[in-house]
Amino acid sequence: MNRAVTTERITPNSGFAKAILGESGVDVNLCYQCGKCAAGCPVAYVMDYPPAQLIHAARLGLEDLVLSSKTIWLCAACETCTTRCPQDVDIAKVMDAAKILGVARGYRPALGEVRAFHKAALANVRRFGRMWEAGMIVSLKLRTRRFTKDLDLGKRMLRKGKLRLFPTLRGARRAARVFSRVEKAEEEREST
Ligand code: SF4
Ligand code: SF4
Repeated sequence: MNRAVTTERITPNSGFAKAILGESGVDVNLCYQCGKCAAGCPVAYVMDYPPAQLIHAARLGLEDLVLSSKTIWLCAACETCTTRCPQDVDIAKVMDAAKILGVARGYRPALGEVRAFHKAALANVRRFGRMWEAGMIVSLKLRTRRFTKDLDLGKRMLRKGKLRLFPTLRGARRAARVFSRVEKAEEEREST
């Protein structure tokens, strides 16, 4: 459902498109608003701003609107939009950049449970080398404190053998190396 935009509560930030460019390498000013990204997005129907609107808002410097939107947290990173864009605007990357900027700039995620999911999933892969679903679910429940949500689904998955009760550590060392390389690169980038 789209929200009406009022000038009273939005202060344009003229450097915002540049910040997105710095974080993602994507120039949102290439967008000419054809709407192909929004037309192909499988989750646009639940977003507060469809992808084309969000890109336009980024161009206009509407930082508050973009960084506090549900859209950036609902994006499933399927890259349909990116593939469809005639201007090669990597919209999926912009969504990720907006999440990173939002967290760095102190915005409370519009959908806290999605961020909790990201954190639980990354911590899981870092520790076990690949996703250990049962452990990830426990970690997510502890973070969100929604202990009974999706209980039936969990039981069904267990019955069908889709949830491994114990992790394998295959790939754990390699994953740890990847994570520490990324952390190092981030530290270097922040210090420059
Ligand atoms: S598909 Fe590309 S050019 Fe068209 S609205 Fe989306 S971002 Fe803009
Ligand atoms: S990457 Fe995100 S914004 Fe783009 S089509 Fe997929 S869900 Fe929609």
